[in-house]
Amino acid sequence: MMVSPQLLEILRCPACVQERDGLLEMVHDTWLVCQEQDCGRKYPIREDIPVMLIDEGDKWVQTPVADLPVPPPPAG
Ligand SMILES: [Zn+2]
Repeated sequence: MMVSPQLLEILRCPACVQERDGLLEMVHDTWLVCQEQDCGRKYPIREDIPVMLIDEGDKWVQTPVADLPVPPPPAG
C-alpha cells in the first residue's frame, strides 16, 4: 500500500495553505515536506496515512530532510 497520487495531489501544508500554496514534496516515501521557504514543516506518513497536523509538522522544522528518520517514529 502507498498513499495514492490523487490524495497527494490535494494535500497541502495546513500551516501555509490559507495564505500560500503550501505545496508538499514526498521524500523517502514516508515524509511530506512543505515547499514554502520559511516553513520547513515535515509531515510523517504513518501506515500509509499522512499525518497533516501543524503540531506534528512543527516537531520537524529543525530536522534537515536528509536526517528524517525512516520510517517515521510512532506518534506519542
Ligand atoms: Zn508549510
